[in-house]
Amino acid sequence: MVVRGVYALMDLITQSTRTLSSFNLLSEQIRFSINSLILFRNKQFNFFLSRRLPMTYVVTAHCNGCKYTDCVEVCPVEAFHEGPEMVYINPESCIDCNACVEECPVEAIYADVDLPEKYQEYLEINADKSQEFPVISEKSDPLPTARTLDEIKAAGD
Ligand code: SF4
Ligand code: SF4
Repeated sequence: MVVRGVYALMDLITQSTRTLSSFNLLSEQIRFSINSLILFRNKQFNFFLSRRLPMTYVVTAHCNGCKYTDCVEVCPVEAFHEGPEMVYINPESCIDCNACVEECPVEAIYADVDLPEKYQEYLEINADKSQEFPVISEKSDPLPTARTLDEIKAAGD
């Protein structure tokens, strides 16, 4: 009788240990799943931040000395301003429509999020110079110094 009681007690302890182990395993799996979800959410959020929408478009070095002005005609909000050597985009007027990028024959225009490192200074230059010079909305003759894209690239500019 006593022996049977001891066996029953041992069975109970073994069962409880198994249940406890299963519970630990389950809670471990839940914790792992929650951590995975948090990691996934953070990755998605970082991806979203890295691909944020452009805030403005920027005219860069290739325009300098060219001014073909094809870009100004397609701008729906007259965001371009004309200086003596190049045009500039006013970041406060630009609505990020992307229409001007394809028009530029010398690939001078970028969305700010795609701006190459070597042209970063043009972000501020466009913002400043667009305040200084008047709006241009009609195409005019290019400058006599205008070069083709191939010529610009051959010169390493
Ligand atoms: S089309 Fe290109 S080169 Fe011509 S004015 Fe616009 S940005 Fe400058
Ligand atoms: S992106 Fe659109 S709104 Fe901005 S300067 Fe170019 S054409 Fe104008």
